[in-house]
Amino acid sequence: METVDQLGSVEIASAVASGELSAVEVAEASLAAIEAREPAVQAFIEVSAALALDAARATDAKRAAGERLGPLAGVPVAFKDNMHLIGTHTTCASRMLEDYESVFTATCVRRMLDAGATPVGKANMDEFAFGSSTETSYFHPTMNPWDTGRVPGGSSGGSAAAVAAGEVPLALGSDTGGSIRQPASFCGVVGLKPSYGAVSRYGVVAFGSSLDQVGPLGRTVADVAVAMDALTAGGRDPLDSTSRDLDAAFSATLDQGIEGMRFGVVADLMEAEGLTEEVRAGLRLAERALEDAGATRVEVELPNISSAIAAYYVLGPCEAFSNLARFDGVRYGYQEPGCATLAEQTAKSRARGFGMEAKRRQMLGAYLLASGVYEQYYYPAQQVRSLITADYERAFESCDVILMPTSPRAAFAFGEISDPTQMYLSDTFTISNNIAGSCAISVPVGLGAQSGLPIAAQLQGPAFADALLLRFARVLEVQVGTLGVAPSFAGKGSVPR
Ligand code: GLN
Repeated sequence: METVDQLGSVEIASAVASGELSAVEVAEASLAAIEAREPAVQAFIEVSAALALDAARATDAKRAAGERLGPLAGVPVAFKDNMHLIGTHTTCASRMLEDYESVFTATCVRRMLDAGATPVGKANMDEFAFGSSTETSYFHPTMNPWDTGRVPGGSSGGSAAAVAAGEVPLALGSDTGGSIRQPASFCGVVGLKPSYGAVSRYGVVAFGSSLDQVGPLGRTVADVAVAMDALTAGGRDPLDSTSRDLDAAFSATLDQGIEGMRFGVVADLMEAEGLTEEVRAGLRLAERALEDAGATRVEVELPNISSAIAAYYVLGPCEAFSNLARFDGVRYGYQEPGCATLAEQTAKSRARGFGMEAKRRQMLGAYLLASGVYEQYYYPAQQVRSLITADYERAFESCDVILMPTSPRAAFAFGEISDPTQMYLSDTFTISNNIAGSCAISVPVGLGAQSGLPIAAQLQGPAFADALLLRFARVLEVQVGTLGVAPSFAGKGSVPR
């Protein structure tokens, strides 16, 4: 039986526009799915049922009045909890912001709502987006809907799990070093990290300002494309100086195919540390799929990519240290009661408000920015950044996109990776793209033969080639046969239409 929780965003929006479904019915179905599955998945920090129903009623009223509905009319959406939305808390999954109420709405959220989306809640994440497993959330872990003994990835783990569990067809996440793509890969959903500047970050709590980018996670590439239409509608956001006008039609060009185009493969990356055989097999499948669709495989090189993680763990912590300095318990954030001096209050508020990983990053950043140390680490990291960017520019002279893994392996079990430096290797294939500011997408390519868990391929494109990247991704999901795959979990407690 077809159920609302198995429909994609595009189907929902068109059913709502035609009157086949009401936005309220869809919102209720999503809220019912959340209620049924949250005990096992815990993808949300806050469910905003009242906001959702209000928005859905407004959509239905618009339709009744004969007004034109937006491309996301009635589509339930989850927002990562580092995005401000009036009427909800924005906690960044931290004790520091446990009680923080949003005082404005982020541009990315606003644009989704303007397109007709129904805001069902705020998704769990690693604290302040530091992590690859969502295990550092102050509130609770999130379970991978494919196997609840495993992590959903991170840091946008709640967003990915909510989509995979059929709680919502679409979610927003943020990606500083892989935080949209790696959880998408672990949860068997599609996750796009748009080009740096493609989507406004106004109202999204900053981690690494030169790296952060907001993007959609959906069940299909079409879901993600329609979200990009909404996120970029209205062009450049004057409230984010890094945002740009994108002259692109994402959904409209999605089915134009890739005949005669070229995809690059980096031989060295296939030998990367920790890359599992099943991921390699998934990549071979993806190569064949793209070739069958008329694209040509070419070999390219990214010689400096092996230094990407090292550079990222200098640049990221430095930027995080400076961005998180504002959480001092004075204007906002956790405030330690009963302190005699401001210094004591600041020290204790920060010591008790932040978790382990958030402290590690900030201490690392404080050290790396100290004079004498700065010159030794920050400068070289910036130089590596230039080299990696130049590598990509050269590679994209001979191909349209590059195919590589998203994550070296399928989802790991809770507690399996406790050494932070091992955790950092989760980002082997994702970080270089943030460093270069280009676009990248993770697309499911099936279940691994060894693990039985979702495996993904990553496609990376040049900066502002996001629409072309989506065309490749669309071909991939259709050819490989993973279009809209959902875990068997989505059948449990499913909501009849
Ligand atoms: N896993 C990476 C980190 O821990 C990336 C996080 C992110 O993209 N927000 O920093």
